[in-house]
Amino acid sequence: MASSLCTTAATHRGSGLWSSSLASIPATVGGRTGASHGCSLLVVRATVEPSEKSVEVMRKFSEQYARRSGTYFCADKGVTAVVIKGLADHKNSVGAPLCPCRHYDSKEAEVGQGFWNCPCVPMRERKECHCMLFLTPENDFAGTEQTISLEEIRETTSKF
Ligand code: SF4
Repeated sequence: MASSLCTTAATHRGSGLWSSSLASIPATVGGRTGASHGCSLLVVRATVEPSEKSVEVMRKFSEQYARRSGTYFCADKGVTAVVIKGLADHKNSVGAPLCPCRHYDSKEAEVGQGFWNCPCVPMRERKECHCMLFLTPENDFAGTEQTISLEEIRETTSKF
């Protein structure tokens, strides 16, 4: 399994840029590996299942924001699903969709600052989503869709 993870994941694990609340996201998408795209996310695992309501709220937000920002979901919808669940998990546990791809000393303090509340500042300012939830069309990992169903999220994340 480790071989299917982005090689940068190990780097970030060592640097603390890693969340213990997060699931493994395959870094090989359509035969391409994460090593080539400089991804920095790679592990998003919900320790407690987020409520269905929060997953639905974050699913709708993700679809709307993808349309509004002109970005696309990953060709591997499993990545999209796991990140959406991670956002929903944070919405449940800390009251805001804190980015699920980072480690925080204090999630509550981070929510107050707002920098990493989704869509985070790097996404809003430069369309940089290190979680690979919102990908610009030229990104090698971008798919062609801006929608994902609740069933897709359920199906793809049930394997984790
Ligand atoms: Fe995380 Fe920012 Fe991407 Fe949202 S937009 S998933 S906060 S990296």
